[in-house]
Amino acid sequence: MRNELEIASYEDLLFHFPYRYFDRTQITSINAINPESDLVQIAGTLINIDEEGTGRTKRLTATLYDETGRLELVWFQGMQWVKKSLTEQAKYLVFGKASVFNGVMNIVHPEIDLLTPENSKAGLQPVYPTTEKLRLRGVTNRSFAKITQSLFEKIKGLIVPEILPRNTLQRQGLCTRQQALQWIHFPSSDEEMNQARYRMKFEELFLSQLKIGQLRLQHTIQEGFVFKQVGQYFNDFFHHHLPFQLTNAQKRVLKEIRHDTATGKQMNRLLQGDVGSGKTIVALMAMLLAKDNGFQACLMAPTEILAQQHFQSIHQLLEKMGLRVALLTGNIKGKARKEILAGLESGMIDFAIGTHALIEDQVKFQNLGLAVIDEQHRFGVGQRARLWSKNVKAPHVLVMTATPIPRTLAMTLYGDLDVSVIDELPPGRQEIKTIQRNEMLRVKVMEFVKTEIEKGRQAYIVYPLIDESEKLDYESLIAGYEQVKIFFPEHKYRIAMVHGKQEIGERERNMQRFISGEADILVATTVIEVGVNVPNASIMVIESAERFGLSQLHQLRGRVGRGSEQSYCILLTGNKMSKDSAQRMQIITSTTNGFVIAEQDLAMRGPGDVYGTKQSGIMKFKIADLVQDVGILEQTRNEAKLLMEEDPKLLTPQHHLLRLVLMKENQQAHFSKIS
Ligand code: ADP
Ligand code: MG
Repeated sequence: MRNELEIASYEDLLFHFPYRYFDRTQITSINAINPESDLVQIAGTLINIDEEGTGRTKRLTATLYDETGRLELVWFQGMQWVKKSLTEQAKYLVFGKASVFNGVMNIVHPEIDLLTPENSKAGLQPVYPTTEKLRLRGVTNRSFAKITQSLFEKIKGLIVPEILPRNTLQRQGLCTRQQALQWIHFPSSDEEMNQARYRMKFEELFLSQLKIGQLRLQHTIQEGFVFKQVGQYFNDFFHHHLPFQLTNAQKRVLKEIRHDTATGKQMNRLLQGDVGSGKTIVALMAMLLAKDNGFQACLMAPTEILAQQHFQSIHQLLEKMGLRVALLTGNIKGKARKEILAGLESGMIDFAIGTHALIEDQVKFQNLGLAVIDEQHRFGVGQRARLWSKNVKAPHVLVMTATPIPRTLAMTLYGDLDVSVIDELPPGRQEIKTIQRNEMLRVKVMEFVKTEIEKGRQAYIVYPLIDESEKLDYESLIAGYEQVKIFFPEHKYRIAMVHGKQEIGERERNMQRFISGEADILVATTVIEVGVNVPNASIMVIESAERFGLSQLHQLRGRVGRGSEQSYCILLTGNKMSKDSAQRMQIITSTTNGFVIAEQDLAMRGPGDVYGTKQSGIMKFKIADLVQDVGILEQTRNEAKLLMEEDPKLLTPQHHLLRLVLMKENQQAHFSKIS
């Protein structure tokens, strides 16, 4: 049985951890309860068991009293069964959330048990994650606790095998796995609960760090092509065609790449650099290095538009040098496609620039030596791996991302890659001025946009089509477009629009009009988010800015401020803003530092949601929290390192179980087998 929570076995149930606990050692007197209280536990005498109402309002009620007052208990479901199980005048222990209905304090569907000496000091009660659907089917928190409890009785006497290395357990002072599993569900004190949770978080993070360590090991033993020399192409470009001076950061990264590719090992490098920091040129020069050593290279972008843009700028730069660059995307079909495929296979083409189309099986290279992947977060790890099969040995891989990744995330998400950082913007850039304005001031804002356009600049106006399928958003985009046309009459201004509902061809034509300067204004959705480079566009207005996430706002804003002109980003917000939205606006207007923004984003949202990491298997933690558990993460990293030094392939008998667990997809023990 697979259900909403993906619990399919006893084992899964054991690893379905509570996310909080109620202290059931506390008994509250009835007069001390108020509706704002969290869950409460009361001890009292039950009277007046009665059925009330008819049809849909039919309910079972009872009164509970103690020496300080009385309150009502109410059931809408399972009334007959409840009624039969209750006895008037008996003493009960009642647990639930109190509320006020028609002036009477009540608890709907309380947990109710006869008061006995044991259950009156029941300790901490686990609260399990469940879903609305399950709750409606009657699978409550209580049923979880009960099932888990009976499971523990069933497996009493069996041993839950330890998987962590003995040394690690000792050094870190961790409790055993057996102990932790018992305590995490049924702790009798805070101390037990904390120990258990710490241990399970540790285990989870430790396993992820080990996995990464093993991936890294695979990389380092992977033989790579040797780029022996810096040759004619690289030097020629550097001295004669490079349109500007490289920043020190760019030079440093190139040195790192140069070093990696000369070692005889396969390079797996992540290049992080904020939007506009100039990653493309670094990629291009790495590609020239490949060419100097007799290899082909490819550059893969996440969208058609980006691939095209890379193609155009690279083609332009390299044409004079006699290099052959081809564009390969899904749009290129028929004869043109055949020619490119043939050219890649024969080695006639030096560089291929494209989209996912590059990793299709039919695409064969004569001698691919370097693959660059731009804006990695849109590609899965699997796609990265597919590039490896394009030559007898895996090509060197350079992954570029503009999404600054907080350190904890980088350690788990890209822990298998070496990291280079471009931490410096090209000179002459002015800081983008970011301003928040109430949308009532739209007219004024548009006047300002006009004056900028009159100076020869271009402007983006962005609408929140966050979910491309949302009709409402789409309508507001179209309405917005009509409004923009009123502000900017067509006889005077040229407006282009791009959104996800357009045919790719149409979207690209419109985008192209803006890139080439043919359009003054681009009305757009977030399809422009990634990578597009129009240095003359110096102003961006974001409508309903409060609806965007921080990272998204930062990415969007990165489309301006790419030339030497003063750039502006104006955030239009509505009257009603949540606290979170207001905080996001505060952060985004106060800094343009992508790393600061990423850290704040992570802190506000939690890692589950950031950068599309949800899909990435490595990120799926049951209990560990990458924001809160940085400390534990660091510890596990050290421990994983020590273990990798001692027994890198986990071949000794005492690491046998650990190895099995790592090999299994879910990170759990072989519990069912043993029981
Ligand atoms: P990103 O890192 O966001 O991909 P790009 O590579 O698109 O940034 O570069 C942004 C802009 O900066 C481009 O117009 C590029 O030509 C320019 N640029 C890159 N490096 C330098 C440099 N060292 N000096 C001046 N301009 C540069
Ligand atoms: Mg880029």
